[in-house]
Amino acid sequence: MVMIHLIPGDITEQSVDAVVNAANSSLLGGGGVDGAIHRKGGPEILSECRALRASRYGRGLPTGQAVATTAGRLPARWVIHTVGPVWSATEDRSGQLASCYRESLRVARELGARTVAFPAISTGVYGWPIDDGARIALNTVREETEGDEELEEVRFVLFDQRAYDAFTAAL
Ligand code: ADP
Repeated sequence: MVMIHLIPGDITEQSVDAVVNAANSSLLGGGGVDGAIHRKGGPEILSECRALRASRYGRGLPTGQAVATTAGRLPARWVIHTVGPVWSATEDRSGQLASCYRESLRVARELGARTVAFPAISTGVYGWPIDDGARIALNTVREETEGDEELEEVRFVLFDQRAYDAFTAAL
């Protein structure tokens, strides 16, 4: 059975097989989680991202998809980059947000990762309300890991008290 844990803290400090990055479609860095991962992980991550832009993802990584690179100097083996949807009050984009969690787990399994750490995708710069983001994250990960024999732990790493409280309530 896959254990789901909520951890207050910084995703760049997690010793896990794979950390998920709340990237943007350029794959070339940004703020929030993305900035922290590139800053601490060093230039090796960015150079693999550039190589992805020059090959498979010439137009960028589409929203809801995921792709892996090295984790550089982070205490993890891989970074799985996924692009969350920007929150919209007029359009339901929750399918795209669920897809980020699902596709990241699919990539993690392909890599043979047993422990995976997620941030609360889209709930920062992309403006997704934290309560709803927490609900979608937990429901999708629960559904997607049911009966999984290989994954051991999925960890949600929550940067502030509000996010931690929202995930606790949703769990
Ligand atoms: P997005 O653009 O997908 O909204 P952000 O990186 O702006 O991504 O924010 C996603 C969530 O991650 C927010 O809840 C934010 O508070 C949180 N966050 C920011 N930095 C970190 C970090 N170093 N570790 C874990 N979570 C973080």
